[in-house]
Amino acid sequence: MQESTIRNAVKRYLNRHSLTSIRLKTVLFDMDGVLFNSMPYHAEAWHRTMEAHGLHLSRIEAYLNEGRTGASTINTVYQRQYGTDAPEALIKQIYEEKAAMFHEHGETLPMEGSQELLRKLQRMSIPPVLVTGSGQLKLIDTLAHYFPNSFAKERMVTALDVKRGKPDPEPYLIGLSKASAKANEAIVIENAPLGVEAGHAAHIFTVAVNTGPIDGQVLLDAGADILFPSMQALCGKWELLHRILAETTVYS
Ligand code: MG
Repeated sequence: MQESTIRNAVKRYLNRHSLTSIRLKTVLFDMDGVLFNSMPYHAEAWHRTMEAHGLHLSRIEAYLNEGRTGASTINTVYQRQYGTDAPEALIKQIYEEKAAMFHEHGETLPMEGSQELLRKLQRMSIPPVLVTGSGQLKLIDTLAHYFPNSFAKERMVTALDVKRGKPDPEPYLIGLSKASAKANEAIVIENAPLGVEAGHAAHIFTVAVNTGPIDGQVLLDAGADILFPSMQALCGKWELLHRILAETTVYS
């Protein structure tokens, strides 16, 4: 990642929103596929559970739909096959089976580079906010173990807090309010196209990390301001990104 690439991305963002600068107060983190390497298990569980009910959702499609609520994912596939909404009881059954299969794989480990990035933020006194569409309380509880003193309870947005969910900007707007930050006082870290859409729609500078098998261009097309190939790559360039965010100013 070139310095000029980052600088141009920040300038484009500022011009788009008629802003003069970004004053970073917080970093809004997605969870699955960003903090935790959980997406391969989600994709596998989605594919197998749906298939068991005669519904076709490939693993790649599971990645592309990441961020949707479970009910919405099931209904989208059901609609595609049958042209009508899925029955409530079926949605509930499939979602329960999928969640059970996800938990069968055992402990989910942090994404490589994520713990180091959170330690860097701690040293810089930049408190993060969690913004996840997940309602997996077990995984959310694990945050305190792998990211000690990083995510305070009052700085978490989960499935329980939102009405619409990603790709709606709502979760990221709630995240901003939990940090008492404006859109240009935060950045979003996301791995999924729908999550990127949500960050973009909330008018926040959105950093995409392509930690899965999808084409990175999909993340840029969804509105990512900048794209890193992994969390490790982002962590390695964090100081540079932080400096450029602080020093780039646009005068209209
Ligand atoms: Mg994600």
